[in-house]
This record gives sequence, C-alpha cells and structure tokens, in this order.
Amino acid sequence: MTQGPRFWRSIDQRYNLEGVKCGNCGQAIFPARTLCPTCRHLSVGKLAPFQMSGAGTVESFTVVHSPPNGFELQAPYVMAIVKLAEGPKLTAQIVDVDNADMRVGMPVHKVFRRINQDGEGGVIHYGYKFSARPVRGQGAKGQAPMPVEGPRGSHRSPGAPGRLG
Ligand SMILES: [Zn+2]
Repeated sequence: MTQGPRFWRSIDQRYNLEGVKCGNCGQAIFPARTLCPTCRHLSVGKLAPFQMSGAGTVESFTVVHSPPNGFELQAPYVMAIVKLAEGPKLTAQIVDVDNADMRVGMPVHKVFRRINQDGEGGVIHYGYKFSARPVRGQGAKGQAPMPVEGPRGSHRSPGAPGRLG
C-alpha cells in the first residue's frame, strides 16, 4: 500500500483526538471539520485546533460477538458511543472492563491500543480505544479523569509504536 504523509497526518489527528473549536459558538468538533455544523459560513476562519482531553462517558454500547476479519481474537468485545467531556461523540471499543459490568454513563478515557492485524504476521493497526479502568490515584468523583498515555504529539511514528496493546 502506498499512502502519503497526508494519510498519516489524518490518522495522527484521530489518534490524538485532535479536533477543532468554533470561535463563533464555542462548540468543540471532532473529527476536525472545515465548517462548524451549527454556524456554517459564520464559522469560516474561526475554527481553531482543539485538543480533546480524552475523558468521556458511555452513552450506549453493544457487545459484538461476531467480529469482522482481524478482530477474531478479541471477541466478544464492547463497542460504545462515547460522549467526550467536550461534547462530541464517537464510536470506540471499550477495554479493561468485563462485558457484564458495562453500563450507560460510566466514565471512560482514551487509551492507545492495537486495533487489529491484517492476517497472521500482517500489518498491525493502532488507534484509540476507551478504557473503563479508573485512573490511578483518582479518589472519589469530582476530578475529571485525564488520559495518561503521554503528552500530545507522542505518537508521531505510527510505524514503530513500541510495546502497546
Ligand atoms: Zn459554531
């Protein structure tokens, strides 16, 4: 496969939950767009890069028992719609939780994990998932859980992610 820097840049933004924020209405938008869906043309030139914190809550979920190719080893697994603390929603796999313990409204946070593999010994894909494991050192509710997977921009080498997953 031949994919240029543009491909990797776009992937990188998604990995890091990089979106934009509308300077007109203040709405956080992920994935990044060129127009605010609310303000449309009024948002032209007013969208600034915006880093999502990675904290969110489970809005709905489903347990997948018959995964697509490449996911066989993980089944059954949980896919959920996660509402980010900043507002945008996305679909992601939930890890570090027993399927039976899943519940709507539970706090989750972004982690960087192996997603799947193209066949045996094939290309391994990495990306974000959301972990339900409580953030270490976090006491009772009150403090928003923050991702601890490293500073922004720490995943600039998608081809050599090291020991992850
Ligand atoms: Zn707007």
